[in-house]
Amino acid sequence: PLVLGIETSCDETGIGIVRGRTLLSNTIASSMDEHARFGGVVPEVAARAHLEALQPTIERAVADAGVSLADLDAVAVTSGPGLAGALMVGVGAAKALALSLEKPLYAVNHLVGHIAADIVAPDSERIEYPTIALLVSGGHTSLLHVRDLTTDVELLGETVDDAAGEAFDKVARLLGLPYPGGPQIDRAAEGGDPRAIRFPRGLSRKSDLEKHRWDFSFSGLKTSVARWVEQHQDSGEDLPLADVAASFREAVVDVLVTKTLDACQERGVPRLLLGGGVIANARLREVALSRAAARGVEVRIPPLSLCTDNGAMIAALAAQLIASGRQPSTLGFGADSTLPVTEIQVAEAGQG
Ligand code: ATP
Ligand code: MG
Ligand code: FE
Repeated sequence: PLVLGIETSCDETGIGIVRGRTLLSNTIASSMDEHARFGGVVPEVAARAHLEALQPTIERAVADAGVSLADLDAVAVTSGPGLAGALMVGVGAAKALALSLEKPLYAVNHLVGHIAADIVAPDSERIEYPTIALLVSGGHTSLLHVRDLTTDVELLGETVDDAAGEAFDKVARLLGLPYPGGPQIDRAAEGGDPRAIRFPRGLSRKSDLEKHRWDFSFSGLKTSVARWVEQHQDSGEDLPLADVAASFREAVVDVLVTKTLDACQERGVPRLLLGGGVIANARLREVALSRAAARGVEVRIPPLSLCTDNGAMIAALAAQLIASGRQPSTLGFGADSTLPVTEIQVAEAGQG
């Protein structure tokens, strides 16, 4: 099926068009620059930016794909989770588009969309389920067990406080580096010693593991970096920025990779899919790939343009739902900022 996907859950207005497993276009307008001076995404600003960006982005995606709106078999949209106001803009636009074109509409889960992104990656014929998936971005840190993309996605664990990308952004800020912090820390860490400072690995102690086996926590790490920097400033010496950045990055990467590969082992699933903007992190990819290889786990990392928020992943998920015979959503659905990952599609027609 030919599907257009609309994604507005955070600061990217993403419009993607796919035909089945083939990616035709993936157009993004980001309001990230507008948030930079605030050091993080401002919901109100993001919602307004979506409103302005939607129409031109749809036009560009359609032109890039070389199709016409009349040819579409369906429209797809992110219903949640994400920023309520931002989601609402996309949901409203999707309903209007589907109604005016008289096309079926599929309202889908953003997190499952991140997993579906892999389906339109260039080597997607190699995808196999079940797989463990780790999604790490500015808004989420989720560890999932995907048995079947369209019917069975289990949330194993998630962050109990800051998301991984948010931790990078906050620590960058306290080190005096600009937003977004991830690429800045990556650069600052070059040549640094990752073992210079032993920062804490959140929720990794035996006592934590009982309740939070697969959960993550990054706020204690951030506080620990802040305290280290403060104490060092008292000493009057220059801050060893490269060592601090490398040691912080190592703490994040270590706990993410350790828990994720433990999940692969415990669940007997020798496959791992990585997604989300933090996957851009050079050290995370390196450590994940090398430790996975040592444990016989096969790793898939879609191209970065499919890892960050985008519309193609939303279209790809809807295309799979259509292929497996699912009915479109009824138009009564809204934006659900806390939509659980188990709700892969919302408001499926004919469902209670
Ligand atoms: P969502 O959470 O809804 O997926 P988002 O916009 O917050 O949306 P992304 O756009 O996927 O998330 O990713 C942005 C985040 O990724 C930011 O927090 C940024 O600091 C982080 N990031 C980007 N590059 C890197 C990197 N090289 N290392 C670590 N983090 C990075
Ligand atoms: Mg973003
Ligand atoms: Fe996302």
